[in-house]
Amino acid sequence: MLLSQQMKRESNARSYPRRIPIAIREASGIFIKDVEGNSYIDCLGGAGTLALGHNHPVVVEAIQSFLSEGYPLHTLDITTPVKEQFVDELLASLPPSFARRAKIQFCGPSGADAVEAAIKLVKTATGNRSVFSFHGGYHGMTHGALSLMGNTSPKEKITGLMSDVHFLPFPYKYRCPFGLGGDLGISTGIHYIQNVLDDPESGIVSPSGMIMEVVQGEGGAIPAPDEWVREIRRLTKERDIPLIIDEVQTGIGRTGAMYAFEHADITPDVVILSKAIGGSLPLSVVLYDESLDRWEPGAHAGTFRGNQMAMATGIATLQYVLRNKLDVHAKKMGDLFMSKLLKIQNEYKSIGEVRGRGLMIGVEIVNSNESPDQLGAYPSDPDKARSIQAECFRRGLIVELGGRHGSVVRFLPPLIVNEDQIEQISSIFYDAIE
Ligand code: PMP
Repeated sequence: MLLSQQMKRESNARSYPRRIPIAIREASGIFIKDVEGNSYIDCLGGAGTLALGHNHPVVVEAIQSFLSEGYPLHTLDITTPVKEQFVDELLASLPPSFARRAKIQFCGPSGADAVEAAIKLVKTATGNRSVFSFHGGYHGMTHGALSLMGNTSPKEKITGLMSDVHFLPFPYKYRCPFGLGGDLGISTGIHYIQNVLDDPESGIVSPSGMIMEVVQGEGGAIPAPDEWVREIRRLTKERDIPLIIDEVQTGIGRTGAMYAFEHADITPDVVILSKAIGGSLPLSVVLYDESLDRWEPGAHAGTFRGNQMAMATGIATLQYVLRNKLDVHAKKMGDLFMSKLLKIQNEYKSIGEVRGRGLMIGVEIVNSNESPDQLGAYPSDPDKARSIQAECFRRGLIVELGGRHGSVVRFLPPLIVNEDQIEQISSIFYDAIE
């Protein structure tokens, strides 16, 4: 009843309630409970926000002590002791090669806010106007961020998007855009990108930056190989094109490293963070090399430039992740989960690929009754993916869909998930596929 009353009023653009038709009453760790008392394992995790799961004691304690200390809830971008500590903790969590020269811009509550700021930053710094983005990339739903999105369906009816965006192929091995498997596909992809950057007749005028996810999230949990990421860094550095790494979903341990760009041991020019960085509360920041700080005072503003309480919960989260090495734990749990999913894949031809990194995992659902392409990849099967999601839900497991046509079942469990819970998740998924 509660649900149907509210749903009548909620925008038609709502997404999650369509497939997760419950009203959540309470939540703890990896579990949520609805108003009727049904319990679910949450592998959606606030779309990757909940590094410590729901209502972790250190997060609750941070909120309580923030309030009892009488810290201000809102200060625009005026400094506070909480903000000072947050910046210290954040910089300490980044590799020194980046942190040493990093400046920070606090942004509005969402990842898209920080994406907008990052694009303005590189355009201002370079005086250039076009941006490179990648097939399958996701950077948010605001006008600028939407312009950078690989998925065309949310853009179809929106006019006035940034026109100077050029899309490059991402190393999506299962459906390699060059029709070449393994390393051959990757090196061909790099040659192609090099050609786009260097050909005076590529039609691309004055690039201001390149934005990418090291592991594409909404695009279907697609990890870029480390060597490919290093090559992208080399190409952009040689041509003075600022490289923006979008760590909104990957940041704070999710992929088995504190930041996904660390896997390839590169130093980006700009890093975008949101989701887990606020420890469950809304916060986003852009970190960037000081050489790019060519903004005039007031060149970027916004009433909510950093949420003070989210900085307090962010400090608690960063400290907990670092002290308990949750990045290492995420790798261990991710590897365990992948090994279980690979066993399930051996039994079911409708699983085209199991992939991911750390606890950012995707299972691509395909139609194996049709003919495969020259690399052996079958056409995607979004209907089957939706019914698997629904069967998981019926059995008490909440998962997300992503990838081409929504054909990838995605798992983003909190980083605190343990071995028994991985076993439980795998067995529900197995039953759902059955
Ligand atoms: N970048 C990436 C990589 C994301 O995954 C998302 C959200 N899924 C965003 C940006 C946008 O964040 P938000 O939804 O908070 O605007």
